[in-house]
Amino acid sequence: MIPVTKPYLPSREKLDRYIDGIYERAWLTNNGELVQELTKRLEAYLGVENLLLVANGTLALQIAYRALGISGRTEPTEAITTPFTFVATASSLKWEGVEPIFTDIDPDTWCLDPALIENAITPHTRAIVPVHVFGNACEVEAIDLVAQKHNLKVIYDASHAFGVNYKGESLLKRGDAATLSFHATKLFHTGEGGAIIFKRKEDLERAKKMINFGITGPETIEELGINAKMNELQAAMGLCVLDEIEDNLQARADVWHRYEQSLPKNLQLQAKPQYLDYNYAYFPVVFESEEQTVLIAEQLKEQSVLTRRYFYPSLESVAFLGAQAEQPVSKNIASRILCLPIYSGCDTQYVLSKIMELL
Ligand SMILES: *Cc1c(COP(=O)(O)O)cnc(C)c1O
Repeated sequence: MIPVTKPYLPSREKLDRYIDGIYERAWLTNNGELVQELTKRLEAYLGVENLLLVANGTLALQIAYRALGISGRTEPTEAITTPFTFVATASSLKWEGVEPIFTDIDPDTWCLDPALIENAITPHTRAIVPVHVFGNACEVEAIDLVAQKHNLKVIYDASHAFGVNYKGESLLKRGDAATLSFHATKLFHTGEGGAIIFKRKEDLERAKKMINFGITGPETIEELGINAKMNELQAAMGLCVLDEIEDNLQARADVWHRYEQSLPKNLQLQAKPQYLDYNYAYFPVVFESEEQTVLIAEQLKEQSVLTRRYFYPSLESVAFLGAQAEQPVSKNIASRILCLPIYSGCDTQYVLSKIMELL
């Protein structure tokens, strides 16, 4: 079987050495040495400040909403977000008591269309939660303008955008906060894990308290918090994966370019803006019709090649996320999209030969 993705497994010897250290210190969690080291190394590698490691990418979103004062309020609150994403972007809002309000995506970049945001703003809107989907950059300048005009916070779900630069600097610096997921299947991972990159230091400091139950000293519990801490075993995995990140990135880029060069030109690929240094984390492709998409996915599976209908369905059709207007562009792209296998060591030649036979 060729899976659609495969967790990157770094050097076992190196991981063992980190685990030896954890045993010697007998320190497993609560901002241990390895969590501190990974924080510093990620800030340096990504070129960001105010990075907070957390237990997973969904809690990263939830803590970001809380720290920025979007959730945890008594009055009704709404946030405008994209229907073309993994469910956690929207369900994390709902979980935090914030109503996700969907607006449609751009048909070429598949990110939130900034021109449609303003129409959806109500007196209850407090935030915009765009997604750099598949690591592509949202129209950050246009989104900033709308946010400033209406005094809204911007939290980017940047789960796919690890290491992506835009106009020469990290895409993660955009917005009031950007969140990352370090789930096993992501480009950079810690098994489970995530991070928040805050624009302002005071928001980071607030979030640091929140992820540890709101406890600030041996006898002080300052405010409502939760447990969202990353532990030392997660950080050990992260340090090992980070050491080998260049090889991992290169391997994915090779797979990505092979697909791009070999697939027929009538298939739609994601359009990227100028000045984007992409991370080649995903290879999504849009087929001509839903029938063709489903058939190809089934036939590839019979040939031992697994693809994913990412992201399907368009989230406005998910009942528990609330009554929503139909989002025609997202619905259309979602119905015809497949992500092809991409990971270090993927047998691209085999996948391509099977797709070409089927087409
Ligand atoms: C993976 C992912 C998440 C959730 O991250 P977890 O670490 O699995 O909790 C959220 N948003 C997007 C867009 C994702 O791809």
